[in-house]
Amino acid sequence: GKPIVALVGRPNVGKSTLFNRLTGRRTAIVDDQPGVTRDRLYGDVEWDNRKFTLIDTGGLFLEDPEFRRDVEKQVGKALAEADVVVFMVDARVGPLVEDERIAQELLKAKSRTIVAVNKVDNFREQDFYEFYRLGLGEPVPISGLHGLNIDELLDRIVELL
Ligand code: GDP
Ligand code: MG
Repeated sequence: GKPIVALVGRPNVGKSTLFNRLTGRRTAIVDDQPGVTRDRLYGDVEWDNRKFTLIDTGGLFLEDPEFRRDVEKQVGKALAEADVVVFMVDARVGPLVEDERIAQELLKAKSRTIVAVNKVDNFREQDFYEFYRLGLGEPVPISGLHGLNIDELLDRIVELL
C-alpha cells in the first residue's frame, strides 16, 4: 500500500493545523485546547508525484488523558505503522523534557524522522537552532498556520519514503 507518514508531538505544537494544510481539507477541527478529539486522523497527500497517507497521531492518542501522560505509547503506536515520522516541536517554547523523551523513543526505534520546528512565523535562526540537540538531524523550520517552508518539509518527507 501507500507509505505512511506519522505526525508526532506534544499537544498544541500544531499537528492538526499542519495536517489540515497538507491534506488540503478544511473539515478537521483545530482548537486552542490541546487534544481536541474531533480531528480527522488520516489523509492523503501527494507531492512530487509521490503519494503517502498522513496520520495525525495527536488525534489518535492525545485526546485520552491516560495516553497523554504516556508519550511512549503514542510514539510506539505511531512507529509501528509509520514509514516516516514527522516529529513536531514548538519554536516558541524550545525543546522541553517531553520533547526529549519523544526524541529518545524515536532514536531507540531507529525511525526515519524529520524534526519540524513549527510556529516559526518569522524566520529567525535562533528559533530552531537549539532543536539540533534532540539528536535527530537538521530541523526544518516551518509555520503550519501561515504555510511557510512547507515545500521544504515535503521535499524532506518524500526523500525518506
Ligand atoms: P495540536 O494539538 O498539535 O494538534 O495543535 P493544533 O494544530 O491544534 O494547534 C494548536 C494551536 O497552535 C492553535 O491555536 C493553532 O492555531 C496554533 N498554531 C499551529 N500552527 C501554528 C503556527 O505555525 N504558528 C502559530 N503562531 N500558531 C500555530
Ligand atoms: Mg490536534
